[in-house]
Amino acid sequence: MSMYKVKELCKKCGKPMVMYYRVYCPRCEKPKLKTTEYYNLLECLYYVEATSHPGFTDKCWEYLVSKYDFANNSMVCIGNDPYDPNPLIQELFEKMGIEDESMEFELSW
Ligand SMILES: [Zn+2]
Repeated sequence: MSMYKVKELCKKCGKPMVMYYRVYCPRCEKPKLKTTEYYNLLECLYYVEATSHPGFTDKCWEYLVSKYDFANNSMVCIGNDPYDPNPLIQELFEKMGIEDESMEFELSW
């Protein structure tokens, strides 16, 4: 699930763009809530990786597949237990500004 960087550079920040359904800049385009209830998971992982944590996508993905049943085109509720937080999930939630203990994510690849 690595970020697929394309040769095209972002006009705003000059860094490589990524291909995920379309070519876009994961730094400059922060993922938006798809509805008021959920985010696209990969867009969020790419955002954290591009803005602050190289390799985050693969690391976090590896953790998530060990914990959750993932299927393409599905929804998954990811939780961040405040009493036993996982550092990767904590980072994801912090970067996305998610204050709840769990969040719904849409999965598609
Ligand atoms: Zn950019």
